[in-house]
Amino acid sequence: MTTVHRVFNFAAGPAVMPLPVLEQIQRDLLALPGVGMSILEISHRSKTFESILEQTEADIRTLAGIPSNYRILFLQGGASLQFSMVPMNLLADGQSADYIDTGSWADKAIKEARKIGQVNVVASTKAENYTRIPATPEISVTPGGAYVHMTSNNTIEGTQWKALPTAADVPLVSDMSSDMFSRPIDIAAHALIYAGAQKNMGPAGLTLVIVRDDLVAKAKSRAFTLPTMMNYAVHAENSSLYNTPPVFAVYATGLVMKWLLALGGLPAIAVSNERKAAKLYAEIDRTGFYRGTAAAFSRSLMNVTFRLPSDELETMFLREATAAGLDGLKGHRAVGGMRASIYNAFPEAGVDALVDFMRDFERRRG
Ligand code: PMP
Repeated sequence: MTTVHRVFNFAAGPAVMPLPVLEQIQRDLLALPGVGMSILEISHRSKTFESILEQTEADIRTLAGIPSNYRILFLQGGASLQFSMVPMNLLADGQSADYIDTGSWADKAIKEARKIGQVNVVASTKAENYTRIPATPEISVTPGGAYVHMTSNNTIEGTQWKALPTAADVPLVSDMSSDMFSRPIDIAAHALIYAGAQKNMGPAGLTLVIVRDDLVAKAKSRAFTLPTMMNYAVHAENSSLYNTPPVFAVYATGLVMKWLLALGGLPAIAVSNERKAAKLYAEIDRTGFYRGTAAAFSRSLMNVTFRLPSDELETMFLREATAAGLDGLKGHRAVGGMRASIYNAFPEAGVDALVDFMRDFERRRG
Protein backbone atom coordinates (compact mmCIF):
# COMPACT_ATOMS: atom_id res chain seq x y z
CA MET A 1 0.00 0.00 0.00
CA THR A 2 1.34 3.44 -0.88
CA THR A 3 1.10 6.18 1.72
CA VAL A 4 -0.97 9.09 0.54
CA HIS A 5 0.46 12.51 1.27
CA ARG A 6 -2.15 15.22 1.76
CA VAL A 7 -1.24 18.88 2.23
CA PHE A 8 -3.34 21.32 4.25
CA ASN A 9 -5.55 22.80 1.54
CA PHE A 10 -6.61 26.39 2.29
CA ALA A 11 -8.20 26.90 -1.16
CA ALA A 12 -11.37 29.00 -1.42
CA GLY A 13 -13.24 26.44 -3.51
CA PRO A 14 -13.23 23.78 -4.75
CA ALA A 15 -11.93 23.08 -1.30
CA VAL A 16 -10.98 20.41 1.18
CA MET A 17 -13.45 17.54 1.67
CA PRO A 18 -13.79 15.46 4.87
CA LEU A 19 -11.25 12.63 4.78
CA PRO A 20 -13.76 9.92 5.84
CA VAL A 21 -15.96 10.96 2.91
CA LEU A 22 -13.08 10.68 0.44
CA GLU A 23 -12.23 7.28 1.89
CA GLN A 24 -15.79 6.05 1.47
CA ILE A 25 -15.91 7.34 -2.11
CA GLN A 26 -12.68 5.51 -2.82
CA ARG A 27 -13.94 2.31 -1.18
CA ASP A 28 -17.21 2.31 -3.10
CA LEU A 29 -16.03 3.78 -6.38
CA LEU A 30 -15.83 0.58 -8.43
CA ALA A 31 -19.21 -0.64 -7.27
CA LEU A 32 -21.76 0.81 -4.87
CA PRO A 33 -22.51 -1.87 -2.26
CA GLY A 34 -25.19 -4.20 -3.57
CA VAL A 35 -25.43 -2.42 -6.94
CA GLY A 36 -22.48 -3.76 -8.90
CA MET A 37 -21.95 -0.43 -10.68
CA SER A 38 -20.03 2.73 -9.93
CA ILE A 39 -21.81 5.92 -8.94
CA LEU A 40 -20.18 7.32 -12.10
CA GLU A 41 -22.07 4.82 -14.23
CA ILE A 42 -25.58 4.52 -12.83
CA SER A 43 -28.64 6.04 -14.48
CA HIS A 44 -30.09 9.10 -12.85
CA ARG A 45 -33.46 7.36 -13.31
CA SER A 46 -32.36 4.25 -11.41
CA LYS A 47 -33.91 3.32 -8.07
CA THR A 48 -30.43 3.57 -6.55
CA PHE A 49 -29.94 7.16 -7.55
CA GLU A 50 -33.51 8.09 -6.71
CA SER A 51 -32.93 6.87 -3.19
CA ILE A 52 -29.56 8.68 -2.96
CA LEU A 53 -31.30 11.90 -3.98
CA GLU A 54 -34.17 11.35 -1.54
CA GLN A 55 -31.83 10.50 1.31
CA THR A 56 -29.64 13.54 0.62
CA GLU A 57 -32.69 15.78 0.65
CA ALA A 58 -33.95 14.19 3.87
CA ASP A 59 -30.55 14.65 5.53
CA ILE A 60 -30.39 18.30 4.44
CA ARG A 61 -33.88 18.85 5.88
CA THR A 62 -32.81 17.31 9.20
CA LEU A 63 -29.46 19.09 9.28
CA ALA A 64 -30.80 22.60 8.68
CA GLY A 65 -34.34 22.12 10.04
CA ILE A 66 -35.95 22.97 6.72
CA PRO A 67 -39.73 23.38 7.01
CA SER A 68 -42.06 21.44 4.68
CA ASN A 69 -43.10 24.60 2.79
CA TYR A 70 -39.61 24.87 1.26
CA ARG A 71 -38.39 22.91 -1.77
CA ILE A 72 -34.79 21.75 -2.07
CA LEU A 73 -33.47 21.86 -5.64
CA PHE A 74 -30.30 20.18 -6.91
CA LEU A 75 -29.22 22.31 -9.86
CA GLN A 76 -26.16 23.10 -11.97
CA GLY A 77 -24.61 26.27 -13.34
CA GLY A 78 -23.08 27.38 -10.06
CA ALA A 79 -24.11 30.27 -7.87
CA SER A 80 -23.34 32.37 -10.95
CA LEU A 81 -26.41 31.01 -12.74
CA GLN A 82 -28.48 31.89 -9.67
CA PHE A 83 -27.44 35.52 -10.17
CA SER A 84 -29.68 35.31 -13.27
CA MET A 85 -32.29 32.76 -12.18
CA VAL A 86 -33.25 34.67 -9.04
CA PRO A 87 -34.37 37.83 -10.91
CA MET A 88 -35.74 35.85 -13.89
CA ASN A 89 -38.07 33.94 -11.57
CA LEU A 90 -38.82 36.50 -8.88
CA LEU A 91 -38.61 39.97 -10.37
CA ALA A 92 -41.95 40.71 -12.02
CA ASP A 93 -42.51 43.57 -14.45
CA GLY A 94 -43.08 46.84 -12.64
CA GLN A 95 -41.37 45.60 -9.48
CA SER A 96 -37.89 46.31 -8.22
CA ALA A 97 -35.43 44.23 -6.19
CA ASP A 98 -33.11 45.43 -3.43
CA TYR A 99 -29.47 44.34 -3.34
CA ILE A 100 -26.96 44.78 -0.54
CA ASP A 101 -23.52 45.25 -2.05
CA THR A 102 -20.94 43.71 0.29
CA GLY A 103 -18.33 42.35 -2.10
CA SER A 104 -17.23 41.29 -5.56
CA TRP A 105 -19.76 38.44 -5.74
CA ALA A 106 -22.63 40.67 -4.60
CA ASP A 107 -21.55 43.13 -7.29
CA LYS A 108 -21.72 40.37 -9.92
CA ALA A 109 -25.21 39.41 -8.71
CA ILE A 110 -26.27 43.06 -9.07
CA LYS A 111 -24.89 43.32 -12.62
CA GLU A 112 -26.82 40.22 -13.73
CA ALA A 113 -30.06 41.34 -12.05
CA ARG A 114 -29.86 44.69 -13.84
CA LYS A 115 -30.11 42.81 -17.15
CA ILE A 116 -33.47 41.43 -16.02
CA GLY A 117 -35.21 44.24 -14.16
CA GLN A 118 -35.03 47.23 -11.89
CA VAL A 119 -32.48 47.00 -9.10
CA ASN A 120 -31.94 49.24 -6.07
CA VAL A 121 -28.60 48.98 -4.32
CA VAL A 122 -29.87 49.73 -0.82
CA ALA A 123 -26.48 49.63 0.91
CA SER A 124 -22.90 49.30 -0.26
CA THR A 125 -19.50 49.19 1.38
CA LYS A 126 -17.69 49.34 -1.96
CA ALA A 127 -16.18 52.78 -1.15
CA GLU A 128 -14.47 51.10 1.83
CA ASN A 129 -13.12 48.22 -0.27
CA TYR A 130 -15.83 46.00 1.18
CA THR A 131 -13.98 45.67 4.49
CA ARG A 132 -17.19 45.46 6.51
CA ILE A 133 -20.86 44.46 6.54
CA PRO A 134 -23.24 47.46 6.67
CA ALA A 135 -25.03 48.16 9.96
CA THR A 136 -28.81 47.79 10.15
CA PRO A 137 -29.60 51.56 10.04
CA GLU A 138 -27.63 51.86 6.78
CA ILE A 139 -30.00 49.51 4.97
CA SER A 140 -33.34 50.88 3.84
CA VAL A 141 -35.42 48.12 2.30
CA THR A 142 -37.95 49.20 -0.36
CA PRO A 143 -41.50 48.41 0.81
CA GLY A 144 -43.28 46.18 -1.72
CA GLY A 145 -40.01 45.14 -3.37
CA ALA A 146 -39.75 41.72 -5.01
CA TYR A 147 -36.95 40.64 -2.68
CA VAL A 148 -33.81 41.73 -0.84
CA HIS A 149 -30.59 40.01 -1.93
CA MET A 150 -27.60 39.54 0.40
CA THR A 151 -24.35 37.57 0.35
CA SER A 152 -23.98 35.91 3.74
CA ASN A 153 -20.22 35.41 3.47
CA ASN A 154 -17.97 37.41 1.17
CA THR A 155 -15.43 34.86 0.04
CA ILE A 156 -12.96 37.30 -1.47
CA GLU A 157 -13.05 40.05 1.15
CA GLY A 158 -13.29 37.77 4.20
CA THR A 159 -16.40 39.30 5.75
CA GLN A 160 -19.55 37.60 7.04
CA TRP A 161 -22.95 38.70 8.30
CA LYS A 162 -23.34 38.02 12.03
CA ALA A 163 -27.08 38.73 12.10
CA LEU A 164 -29.62 38.98 9.30
CA PRO A 165 -30.69 42.40 7.98
CA THR A 166 -34.24 43.44 8.78
CA ALA A 167 -36.20 42.93 5.59
CA ALA A 168 -39.70 43.57 7.01
CA ASP A 169 -42.12 41.60 4.82
CA VAL A 170 -39.88 41.61 1.75
CA PRO A 171 -38.61 38.11 0.84
CA LEU A 172 -34.95 37.66 1.80
CA VAL A 173 -32.68 35.93 -0.74
CA SER A 174 -29.21 34.89 0.36
CA ASP A 175 -26.14 33.71 -1.54
CA MET A 176 -24.62 31.32 1.04
CA SER A 177 -22.04 29.84 -1.32
CA SER A 178 -19.17 30.18 1.11
CA ASP A 179 -20.79 29.61 4.51
CA MET A 180 -23.63 27.19 3.80
CA PHE A 181 -24.17 24.76 6.70
CA SER A 182 -21.28 26.27 8.67
CA ARG A 183 -23.63 27.42 11.45
CA PRO A 184 -27.35 27.14 12.29
CA ILE A 185 -29.54 28.92 9.71
CA ASP A 186 -32.86 30.64 10.37
CA ILE A 187 -34.50 29.16 7.27
CA ALA A 188 -37.91 30.71 7.98
CA ALA A 189 -36.34 34.18 7.82
CA HIS A 190 -35.33 33.47 4.21
CA ALA A 191 -37.42 33.08 1.07
CA LEU A 192 -34.61 31.60 -1.00
CA ILE A 193 -31.07 30.41 -0.25
CA TYR A 194 -28.57 29.29 -2.87
CA ALA A 195 -25.03 27.95 -2.72
CA GLY A 196 -22.53 26.19 -4.92
CA ALA A 197 -21.51 22.90 -3.29
CA GLN A 198 -17.77 23.21 -3.87
CA LYS A 199 -16.83 25.06 -0.69
CA ASN A 200 -18.74 23.68 2.25
CA MET A 201 -20.81 20.82 0.87
CA GLY A 202 -19.01 18.69 -1.67
CA PRO A 203 -17.44 18.67 -5.11
CA ALA A 204 -18.06 21.22 -7.87
CA GLY A 205 -21.00 20.70 -10.20
CA LEU A 206 -23.93 20.97 -7.83
CA THR A 207 -25.80 24.11 -6.79
CA LEU A 208 -28.25 23.82 -3.95
CA VAL A 209 -31.35 26.03 -3.91
CA ILE A 210 -33.75 26.12 -0.96
CA VAL A 211 -36.88 27.99 -1.99
CA ARG A 212 -40.22 28.72 -0.31
CA ASP A 213 -43.36 27.40 -2.02
CA ASP A 214 -44.89 30.82 -2.74
CA LEU A 215 -41.79 31.77 -4.77
CA VAL A 216 -42.02 28.52 -6.71
CA ALA A 217 -45.63 29.44 -7.49
CA LYS A 218 -44.46 32.84 -8.70
CA ALA A 219 -41.97 31.08 -10.98
CA LYS A 220 -44.70 28.78 -12.28
CA SER A 221 -46.76 31.75 -13.40
CA ARG A 222 -43.88 32.68 -15.73
CA ALA A 223 -43.70 29.27 -17.41
CA PHE A 224 -44.56 30.67 -20.85
CA THR A 225 -41.81 33.25 -20.92
CA LEU A 226 -38.98 31.68 -18.95
CA PRO A 227 -36.69 29.13 -20.60
CA THR A 228 -37.67 25.75 -19.14
CA MET A 229 -34.31 25.06 -17.53
CA MET A 230 -34.33 28.47 -15.83
CA ASN A 231 -37.65 27.92 -14.10
CA TYR A 232 -37.58 26.89 -10.42
CA ALA A 233 -41.08 25.41 -10.76
CA VAL A 234 -39.89 22.95 -13.43
CA HIS A 235 -37.14 21.65 -11.17
CA ALA A 236 -39.43 21.55 -8.12
CA GLU A 237 -42.17 19.64 -9.96
CA ASN A 238 -39.65 17.15 -11.34
CA SER A 239 -37.80 16.62 -8.04
CA SER A 240 -34.60 17.93 -9.67
CA LEU A 241 -34.84 15.20 -12.33
CA TYR A 242 -36.14 17.26 -15.24
CA ASN A 243 -32.78 16.64 -16.87
CA THR A 244 -29.68 14.74 -15.80
CA PRO A 245 -28.52 16.10 -12.45
CA PRO A 246 -24.84 16.01 -11.41
CA VAL A 247 -25.08 12.45 -10.11
CA PHE A 248 -21.63 12.16 -8.55
CA ALA A 249 -21.75 15.61 -6.90
CA VAL A 250 -25.15 14.82 -5.35
CA TYR A 251 -23.83 11.49 -4.04
CA ALA A 252 -20.68 13.03 -2.55
CA THR A 253 -22.65 15.91 -1.03
CA GLY A 254 -24.97 13.34 0.51
CA LEU A 255 -21.98 11.71 2.21
CA VAL A 256 -20.83 15.10 3.52
CA MET A 257 -24.32 15.72 4.97
CA LYS A 258 -24.11 12.38 6.82
CA TRP A 259 -20.65 13.35 8.08
CA LEU A 260 -22.05 16.66 9.39
CA LEU A 261 -25.01 14.94 11.08
CA ALA A 262 -22.70 12.43 12.77
CA LEU A 263 -20.57 15.29 14.11
CA GLY A 264 -23.62 16.74 15.84
CA GLY A 265 -25.08 18.90 13.08
CA LEU A 266 -24.88 22.65 12.60
CA PRO A 267 -24.55 23.68 16.28
CA ALA A 268 -21.53 21.38 16.64
CA ILE A 269 -19.82 22.45 13.42
CA ALA A 270 -20.40 26.10 14.39
CA VAL A 271 -18.48 25.56 17.63
CA SER A 272 -15.62 23.99 15.70
CA ASN A 273 -15.62 26.78 13.11
CA GLU A 274 -15.59 29.46 15.84
CA ARG A 275 -12.66 27.79 17.53
CA LYS A 276 -10.61 27.42 14.34
CA ALA A 277 -11.18 31.03 13.25
CA ALA A 278 -10.49 32.40 16.75
CA LYS A 279 -7.06 30.74 16.78
CA LEU A 280 -6.14 32.31 13.47
CA TYR A 281 -7.42 35.81 14.28
CA ALA A 282 -5.66 35.70 17.65
CA GLU A 283 -2.38 35.08 15.84
CA ILE A 284 -3.09 37.85 13.31
CA ASP A 285 -3.77 40.30 16.16
CA ARG A 286 -0.91 39.16 18.42
CA THR A 287 1.81 41.67 17.50
CA GLY A 288 0.83 43.84 14.52
CA PHE A 289 3.18 42.07 12.07
CA TYR A 290 0.14 40.55 10.38
CA ARG A 291 -2.84 42.78 9.59
CA GLY A 292 -6.40 41.49 9.18
CA THR A 293 -8.08 43.18 6.20
CA ALA A 294 -11.70 42.89 7.44
CA ALA A 295 -13.20 45.08 10.16
CA ALA A 296 -13.10 43.07 13.39
CA PHE A 297 -16.90 42.96 13.80
CA SER A 298 -17.35 41.61 10.24
CA ARG A 299 -14.63 38.98 10.22
CA SER A 300 -15.50 35.78 8.38
CA LEU A 301 -15.13 32.43 10.11
CA MET A 302 -14.65 30.82 6.69
CA ASN A 303 -12.20 33.01 4.77
CA VAL A 304 -9.55 34.64 6.93
CA THR A 305 -7.83 37.45 5.00
CA PHE A 306 -4.61 39.11 6.14
CA ARG A 307 -1.60 41.01 4.86
CA LEU A 308 2.07 41.21 5.78
CA PRO A 309 4.13 44.42 6.04
CA SER A 310 5.40 44.30 2.41
CA ASP A 311 4.86 42.64 -0.96
CA GLU A 312 8.29 41.02 -0.65
CA LEU A 313 7.40 39.43 2.68
CA GLU A 314 4.10 38.22 1.24
CA THR A 315 5.83 36.54 -1.69
CA MET A 316 8.30 34.92 0.70
CA PHE A 317 5.51 33.85 3.07
CA LEU A 318 3.59 32.15 0.28
CA ARG A 319 6.62 30.37 -1.09
CA GLU A 320 7.70 29.05 2.30
CA ALA A 321 4.17 28.14 3.38
CA THR A 322 3.60 26.12 0.21
CA ALA A 323 6.91 24.33 0.75
CA ALA A 324 5.78 23.53 4.30
CA GLY A 325 2.60 21.85 3.03
CA LEU A 326 0.27 24.81 3.64
CA ASP A 327 -1.33 25.17 0.22
CA GLY A 328 -3.67 27.70 -1.40
CA LEU A 329 -3.03 30.69 0.88
CA LYS A 330 -2.71 33.31 -1.86
CA GLY A 331 -5.44 35.90 -1.45
CA HIS A 332 -7.69 37.05 -4.27
CA ARG A 333 -6.03 39.76 -6.37
CA ALA A 334 -8.79 42.23 -5.38
CA VAL A 335 -7.57 42.17 -1.76
CA GLY A 336 -3.99 40.90 -2.09
CA GLY A 337 -2.10 39.22 0.72
CA MET A 338 -3.27 35.94 2.18
CA ARG A 339 -6.57 34.16 2.46
CA ALA A 340 -6.92 31.08 4.62
CA SER A 341 -10.19 29.35 3.74
CA ILE A 342 -11.10 27.12 6.66
CA TYR A 343 -14.45 25.60 5.73
CA ASN A 344 -16.24 22.88 7.73
CA ALA A 345 -13.98 20.08 6.49
CA PHE A 346 -10.74 21.96 7.09
CA PRO A 347 -8.98 20.17 9.98
CA GLU A 348 -8.10 22.07 13.15
CA ALA A 349 -4.60 20.55 12.92
CA GLY A 350 -4.15 22.58 9.72
CA VAL A 351 -5.07 25.79 11.55
CA ASP A 352 -2.57 24.91 14.28
CA ALA A 353 0.08 24.25 11.63
CA LEU A 354 -0.56 27.64 10.01
CA VAL A 355 -0.41 29.44 13.37
CA ASP A 356 2.92 27.76 14.14
CA PHE A 357 4.22 28.66 10.69
CA MET A 358 3.11 32.32 11.08
CA ARG A 359 4.84 32.58 14.43
CA ASP A 360 8.03 31.06 13.11
CA PHE A 361 7.97 33.25 9.98
CA GLU A 362 7.54 36.41 12.07
CA ARG A 363 10.42 35.38 14.31
CA ARG A 364 12.70 34.81 11.34
CA ARG A 365 11.60 37.69 9.08
CA GLY A 366 9.80 40.17 11.32
N1 PMP B 1 -21.01 33.71 -4.71
C1 PMP B 1 -20.02 33.56 -3.81
C2 PMP B 1 -20.16 34.16 -2.44
C3 PMP B 1 -18.87 32.84 -4.17
O1 PMP B 1 -17.87 32.70 -3.30
C4 PMP B 1 -18.77 32.28 -5.47
C5 PMP B 1 -17.59 31.46 -5.90
N2 PMP B 1 -16.37 31.77 -5.39
C6 PMP B 1 -19.82 32.50 -6.35
C7 PMP B 1 -20.94 33.19 -5.93
C8 PMP B 1 -19.78 31.94 -7.75
O2 PMP B 1 -19.96 30.58 -7.66
P1 PMP B 1 -19.86 29.58 -8.87
O3 PMP B 1 -18.44 29.52 -9.27
O4 PMP B 1 -20.38 28.31 -8.25
O5 PMP B 1 -20.75 30.08 -9.95
